[in-house]
Amino acid sequence: MSASALKLLIQCPYRFIWHRLGVKSVELPTLDDPRFIGNLLHKIIEGALRPLTSGRTPVQERFITDVTQALVNETHRLLPGPLAHAPLALHLVNYAWPKLARWLGDVTSHGESWRTAPALFESLIRSSRSRPVTVDLEVQANIALTGKVDFAMTIAPQFGLLVDWKKSSIPNSKDFNRGLEPQLALYALAGAQDGIDGTGWSLANTIVGHYNILSGEFAIATSGSGSDAIAKQFKWTVRRKKLEDITTTVKSLWNLRHEEVVTGRFAADTSQCEDFCSDQDLCRKGSPEHHQRLDQQKRLKKLLGIDKPLPDSNAEKIPEGQDP
Ligand code: SF4
Repeated sequence: MSASALKLLIQCPYRFIWHRLGVKSVELPTLDDPRFIGNLLHKIIEGALRPLTSGRTPVQERFITDVTQALVNETHRLLPGPLAHAPLALHLVNYAWPKLARWLGDVTSHGESWRTAPALFESLIRSSRSRPVTVDLEVQANIALTGKVDFAMTIAPQFGLLVDWKKSSIPNSKDFNRGLEPQLALYALAGAQDGIDGTGWSLANTIVGHYNILSGEFAIATSGSGSDAIAKQFKWTVRRKKLEDITTTVKSLWNLRHEEVVTGRFAADTSQCEDFCSDQDLCRKGSPEHHQRLDQQKRLKKLLGIDKPLPDSNAEKIPEGQDP
């Protein structure tokens, strides 16, 4: 199962079901669709930088120029004609790609050099035996995790960095800390179990973060308890909540959903619909009964330690006496 499918299951079981059944709103693709642009940026980075993992190591002194040029060439190759002279193309060529090249140059100039520790781009979550990694979530049902890490690298002996490229905004740190954006935590767990193209680092020695492509900024999402000194070497802001805590939260959420499935309480979780659901037009969130849904929300809030009630658009419709 992919990390993004697991994220949907943790956030709302109904969204997970839409995803598994392939049910989507009918939308014609458009050139300015943020998902289309996001996929395109990923493809440009992969096309330009993946060759660096197969022996064509850039010369360190010319690193920034060579990497920028590779990104610009790939942009011209992949950008559809109508976008070739759009502000997006100018921004990428003149701002975003030089910034990404400088950031990569900075990352690769510390610790292990690119030559001895090649970076991995769009690397598969798979064990050294080329199988999906079974991530131990400490419940009856572990998961065989599939997916790709956007960027992974050994940044110092025994220390690893996992990065998710984001087009223009990065996940909210509250959601990340609550386990509601579990992708990087799951990849770190897989990495700790020898799961990213045969490489892996202990949780304590892993730093995970998001790189905002359009603004050219990197932010640590969290790091393992042994990684603070390494993060400071790079002048990255260290987070208080550690990777080990967040992976524990993700495991608890998975336990909660697993228990709901096996006890027949698999239902919509409306606690955060407005924050991140693009399936609102499809959803029959009026079913099942209110009390069941509210009970589920209450359990999730308790687990996440959220004091204030989360917005519930249907709260006013609850008949008196049914509130559990
Ligand atoms: S609208 Fe809310 S309840 Fe429905 S699928 Fe989305 S998150 Fe789940």
